[in-house]
Amino acid sequence: MNARVNKIQFGGYTFIGYSLAGEESVVGVPELNVCFDIGRAPSEILNIDNVLLTHGHMDHAAGIAYYFSQRNFLANRNGTMIVPHDLVNPIHRLMDAWCEIEGHRTPYRIVGVGPDEDYPLRRGLVARTFQTVHGGPCLGYSVVEIRQKLKPEFLDLPGHKLAEIRRSGIEMTYNLEVPLVCYCGDTAYGKFFELDCVRKAKILILECTFIEQGHRTRAQAGYHLHLDDFLRLQDILENEHILLVHLSRRTTLGVARQELRSLLQSDQYKRIQFLMARTPQNSSRFYSNLGQ
Ligand SMILES: [Zn+2]
Ligand SMILES: [Zn+2]
Repeated sequence: MNARVNKIQFGGYTFIGYSLAGEESVVGVPELNVCFDIGRAPSEILNIDNVLLTHGHMDHAAGIAYYFSQRNFLANRNGTMIVPHDLVNPIHRLMDAWCEIEGHRTPYRIVGVGPDEDYPLRRGLVARTFQTVHGGPCLGYSVVEIRQKLKPEFLDLPGHKLAEIRRSGIEMTYNLEVPLVCYCGDTAYGKFFELDCVRKAKILILECTFIEQGHRTRAQAGYHLHLDDFLRLQDILENEHILLVHLSRRTTLGVARQELRSLLQSDQYKRIQFLMARTPQNSSRFYSNLGQ
């Protein structure tokens, strides 16, 4: 595996990627066939068919053209990139420019979405969009499973009776929505945290760019979350697991863990994971960033 890419498993899913503020953010979840943001399009996520792009900052979006080009090169079928509406035309122009530079056209598929839409990923699985707060075109995504359930009043009826009712055209089922994995991308605190698809997702992938107390104004200026925001959210977040991403390179993983451990209750701390696991390659990378 590429030295900068991590792979961790919990809650029944695998998370493959890399996330450091300003440098690169990409989180692939193979079981759901989605990749949240594309970063620099590392090879480990190229077989994932759906990229859910939150916004156009280079650290999240630099690999757009490379993702499509590598998939084409590897003879994968076309991937789809789902992006905020306002980014559709600039991405067409980006792909046109590459066509001019390379002398041939790379096939690609871009779908524009707005807030509060469901993009179908496969039968019974959608990517639900929500408005985040990052000072430009930006969206978050929650992958929601939609299960068709029989209404309680029909549960005990025998098969022939059910068939009869179905033939009469009466609606017998309802949709049960189960938010599985939600990714907020880069964002400041916003109303979207009150949405069920965010606060009740089994796994919430959340940026935590600024940890240290002195960085509060820096977080506000860049439309990012600060640890204080995260603490404020503890009472409404019902997630089983929270994967923290997009730490600032100014903060080491050790300091982040220590701060969280001292400020959260133990059950709140236990549900937290970091994408940047402390592997030998990555810890040297993190600690070499000390003082920058
Ligand atoms: Zn970023
Ligand atoms: Zn950003």
